Amino acid sequence: MEKQHITEALWSGTTAFKEYPLLPGDIEVDVAIVGAGITGISTAYTLAKAGKRVAVLEALKVGSGTTGSSTGNLYAPIDERLHSVETKFDEETMRTVAAARTAAIDFIEKRVQEYNIDCEFNRVPWYLFTTPETSSQNSQVEKELEASKKAGLPVSGEAPANFPYEVSAITNIAHQAQFNPLKYVQHLAAAIVGDNCQIYEGTKVTQVEDGEPCVVHTQHGKVTARHVVMATHSPKGIYAVHTEMEPYREYAMAVRLKGDPPAGGIYWHQMAKQHHSVRPYSNAQGNFLLVLGEPHRVGHKEHNEDSFLKIEEYMTKHFDVDHIVYKWAAQNYKPADNLPYIGTSLTQDHTYIATGFAADGLTWGTVSSMIIHDLIVGKENEWARTFDPKRFTPVASSKKFMQENVHVAKHLIKDYFFYDKDVQLKDLKPGEGKTLEIDDEKLAAYRDEEGKLHVVSSVCTHMGCVVHFNNAEKSWDCPCHGSRFSVEGEVLEGPAYDNLAKPNTTKNEQ
Ligand SMILES: Cc1cc2nc3c(=O)[nH]c(=O)nc-3n(C[C@H](O)[C@H](O)[C@H](O)COP(=O)(O)OP(=O)(O)OC[C@H]3O[C@@H](n4cnc5c(N)ncnc54)[C@H](O)[C@@H]3O)c2cc1C
Repeated sequence: MEKQHITEALWSGTTAFKEYPLLPGDIEVDVAIVGAGITGISTAYTLAKAGKRVAVLEALKVGSGTTGSSTGNLYAPIDERLHSVETKFDEETMRTVAAARTAAIDFIEKRVQEYNIDCEFNRVPWYLFTTPETSSQNSQVEKELEASKKAGLPVSGEAPANFPYEVSAITNIAHQAQFNPLKYVQHLAAAIVGDNCQIYEGTKVTQVEDGEPCVVHTQHGKVTARHVVMATHSPKGIYAVHTEMEPYREYAMAVRLKGDPPAGGIYWHQMAKQHHSVRPYSNAQGNFLLVLGEPHRVGHKEHNEDSFLKIEEYMTKHFDVDHIVYKWAAQNYKPADNLPYIGTSLTQDHTYIATGFAADGLTWGTVSSMIIHDLIVGKENEWARTFDPKRFTPVASSKKFMQENVHVAKHLIKDYFFYDKDVQLKDLKPGEGKTLEIDDEKLAAYRDEEGKLHVVSSVCTHMGCVVHFNNAEKSWDCPCHGSRFSVEGEVLEGPAYDNLAKPNTTKNEQ
């Protein structure tokens, strides 16, 4: 296969960004929203429409976080499967999940119509299927078929005539959707900015004080607000939900085919431990086929370039690929009991969080905007209790919760004992990153391809775990709660507010 790829998401490579100003100094609003992904912008829409004065504070650009790195699929089932919700909870909770997510897809379609948003929104089927070589997983597909029926979704067990795989078992849900997620949030943001809603880009929030009022601190001034919405994917700072979520990195690719792409649809190919998600997308630049897969826990795969090779192999095996156009990776946070956390946390009354979306957050982020609107305006919401971050679900969460916390504890202890004391800075080869200890200082050092060394502290500023090198993306990733940092130590994403510290000493040989 010819390789001409760009390491960037398809959406940011093909979508124009509108620019918004920096926060101009101290301001006062009803609601301060931190983060301008699908969660932040949709919540700004619902609240501004309700007459609230809203300020959206975005560190980078509207939609440039995980929303702009997703695959743009909208579906009622979930990454961990609807049937798992019935097993962990009950049929009613599963029906709530399907109903809330279906309403979110309708919400997005209505906004597309309301503002005439050109984001290639199309209603398509969602398929979960096995092929003869993965038929050992047929029962997974059959369970999802039964669960979808019980949840009231328009489902069948038939593959359409033009299906691009040889099918062994299939769950086929009609009337799901797909779109360009970055164009959607960019256009929705542009449509709502005005008297009630201000959007500030390049405005990184550095601290949130919950209270009456709340105070949101940024590099450019502070925002006083009655309510704060932490729409940062994983909430910034220390929250109990961090101990209930596993951070995962996943890999995506957009390729050009030699022939025609398959019909519009969300194709989830069930494998032994994961699924590959495939979808076609067409715009003025032509036809693309996207694939997403190969998830692993953040900071846990030493040679994660291998994940790109695996999805490339997958695509070549199943399609007549001409060349790769875009490839990228992005993050998701899997909740212990498979339900997202939407609402106020245990310790804060006026700050709302929206997280634990797994790889289903375009829809969960939209559900969050509806729930948080109702909580703030004081309206009853039929889904709020199910997704309340203060819920206590020891049975549904227990296995993952225990695994997650044993895992974090192990990383805190193991990484401190097994520092590479023998490696010196001069030993690092171009392209190599290592954690090492020099003069009792714990360092994360990376030598770039030009031979320049980049050295920062290796202690994550969130909760003190040791960061690991990500060689596919050249970043320092925390295996505990998923904070990621550039090789210069700047926060890229995750719950950490602060950059990795600069080392006291780099006097060692370079
Ligand atoms: C590879 C991949 C594919 C996916 N595909 C799908 C899919 O097809 N369908 C689906 O439903 N879900 C999908 N998901 C999940 C989905 O993309 C996310 O759950 C969703 O985009 C989260 O949206 P968000 O607005 O909550 O977060 P984000 O889009 O990450 O937005 C958070 C924003 O907060 C900003 N921010 C962070 N810190 C600060 C700060 N200190 N100050 C100010 N701003 C800050 C960030 O810059 C960012 O813009 C996928 C996930 C992955 C990893």
